[in-house]
Amino acid sequence: MIQRENLAALDWFRIAAAVLVVANHTSPLATVDAGADFLLTRVLARLAVPFFLMVTGYFLAAGGWRKAGQTAKKLLLYDLLATALYLPLSFSIIGWDWAEWLRRLLIDGTLYHLWYFPAAIVGIGVVCLLRRLGAGAALAAALALYVLGLLGDSYWGLTQQLPLLGPFYDHVIFALTEYTRNGLFYAPLFLLLGSFGFRMKRVPSAVCFAAALLAMAAEAWTLHSLDWQKHDSMYLLLPLAMLFLFSLLLDFNRGQRPALRHISLLVYLVHPWCIVLIRGGAGVLGLEALLVECAPVHFLAVLMMSFLMALLLAAVPLPQKCAPTGRAWREIDLAALRRNAAALQECLGQSCRLMAVVKAEAYGHGGVLCAKTLQKAGINAFAVATLSEAVELRKAGIHGIILILGYTHPSQARALRFWRLTQTVVDAEHARSLEKMRVPLHIHIAVDTGMHRLGVPDHDLAALRGIYRSKYLKVDGIFSHLCVSDSLTEEDVRYTAQQAERFYHTVEAVERIPGCSAGKIHLQASYGALNLPPQPCDYGRMGIALYGVYSDDAPVRRDVDLQPVLSLRARIASVRILETGERAGYGLAFVARRRTKLAVATIGYADGLPRDWPEKGGKVLLHGVYVPAVGRLCMDQMLLDVTDVPNVRQGDVITVIGRDGNACIRAETVARQCGTISNELLSRLGQRLPVVRRR
Ligand SMILES: *Cc1c(COP(=O)(O)O)cnc(C)c1O
Repeated sequence: MIQRENLAALDWFRIAAAVLVVANHTSPLATVDAGADFLLTRVLARLAVPFFLMVTGYFLAAGGWRKAGQTAKKLLLYDLLATALYLPLSFSIIGWDWAEWLRRLLIDGTLYHLWYFPAAIVGIGVVCLLRRLGAGAALAAALALYVLGLLGDSYWGLTQQLPLLGPFYDHVIFALTEYTRNGLFYAPLFLLLGSFGFRMKRVPSAVCFAAALLAMAAEAWTLHSLDWQKHDSMYLLLPLAMLFLFSLLLDFNRGQRPALRHISLLVYLVHPWCIVLIRGGAGVLGLEALLVECAPVHFLAVLMMSFLMALLLAAVPLPQKCAPTGRAWREIDLAALRRNAAALQECLGQSCRLMAVVKAEAYGHGGVLCAKTLQKAGINAFAVATLSEAVELRKAGIHGIILILGYTHPSQARALRFWRLTQTVVDAEHARSLEKMRVPLHIHIAVDTGMHRLGVPDHDLAALRGIYRSKYLKVDGIFSHLCVSDSLTEEDVRYTAQQAERFYHTVEAVERIPGCSAGKIHLQASYGALNLPPQPCDYGRMGIALYGVYSDDAPVRRDVDLQPVLSLRARIASVRILETGERAGYGLAFVARRRTKLAVATIGYADGLPRDWPEKGGKVLLHGVYVPAVGRLCMDQMLLDVTDVPNVRQGDVITVIGRDGNACIRAETVARQCGTISNELLSRLGQRLPVVRRR
């Protein structure tokens, strides 16, 4: 049922537009009245393709044009599909001329009826370029291109009378493309107009649309009478009429009907075949007088067959994507990540560059996604824990330095070299075994200044000298790691100061070795930056703070404005009532002390939450209020006592970490309840939680 209130006007108009396209290619009134047919197919039907371009622009803009590449790829797929579908027909027209095949695939459409696909693909590319000029200039440029297109289309008669211009179109433009209604001259303007989402109230929209359409009909009629039209796709008033039509549709638009998109696309794809089949069938059956020569019947036959085929094809099951937010997911706020990086860079000081520590999937935030975002924001040093993490980043197109902070077995030397990775040398023995591989490698030396985990002891100058003099290991840097810099107790602060002193002392000693340069030096991790003044280092290795989170609730010296990047959400799977005294879950660990409304949420310990979290006071947010987790956490589910929350429904979203309305659950709080630090909690978040960007 379509209700006025939730009329998915944009999706419904796609069906109308598909009908108009079929009309355009079958001339329904040709045998009734030539003038009426002109108005229907050469004026009214000209609204169809601009509409498709405008919805494309509208939705691309809604996503900040991030999906432009993806959309163009999908359209190319349709273009290829259409080409395959019409191979026999197009072949009878094009023959073996492969250059012509390519030209049509990318410009005119292999079957010219299907020119929309190449036009949209090229148009999206052109718009992405134009957008760099800024909105106003982009619109002006698209308008100028449209006018150039007009001069080769409905205003061709005028162009031919002009010196230079006529021959220019003949010899240059029409040598490349059959028509000017293509991706360069025609599509960009409509994509951009759609992207603005211009909207007025429905009455003024309807009045303006009617006026613009009438004026456009008059324009078309005049051009037609003057015999100026080379083709009749473009009118001066078409963009204006479209703007008001789209505004009208937007004002009605509520919700979505994706099935209609599918049907309209299929009608568009199959209708040329239906024309051929109806004509062929009529010939065989001797029904040409009715099915072909009577234009309205011909149109209706093609239309019905197209919709029938579209409906049949729509019933074919296609591989479906699973929506990432169907069960439980991590929502990543990339803008917060960028802001945190900028705030930490400022905290580190001018000469010390931020090295983004993106190990363990960027502490559970999605390694590639975060690294790419930071790279775009200008960061060009990354650190990970393992070789495989480093290789994954390189494959994803991270080109700055990638330092592996952990041990890598010498047998992996060739992989280190091939992927241009920088390996930490964890002690003198590691250096010797890497050197034996006789593979030139870039390394940073870890120095143990008191943590006693990895590193060459700071006083072992002989070992350091040995490493700097190795033949195959090129020392690009030297670093140490602080182990109590998160603590502000007097004793720990003294220990940290001592570690720093030992580190700089070692660096100086290395610099004094003849022919030796220490290379890049770095000491601080997040808490080194948050608790120490700016250091005379080349890098600061920022992990947890980059994600807008502290390890725990301990105070820090420096006030840096950090915002959490991750939210963890899931859904309500089921709601039931337990009577007082009834019990629930494994071990019947939950006992209803009152009549209880119990909800099951779609997240469990396999997603990274500890099994005993409910006992430790775990709470989640539902409709903006805190509700306690109860009973024992299951592998994939958790029980919630939602007695006090009205209207809890299956499918509702819960927030385990993050903001919901005015309430917020911080990762630090959950970590404290679990008896750990947020670093552990976040990096354990299960791989089966899809990562989605926050819009
Ligand atoms: C993980 C790690 C870091 C990052 O630590 P944070 O406290 O998360 O900033 C820095 N240096 C080394 C050697 C590490 O292993």
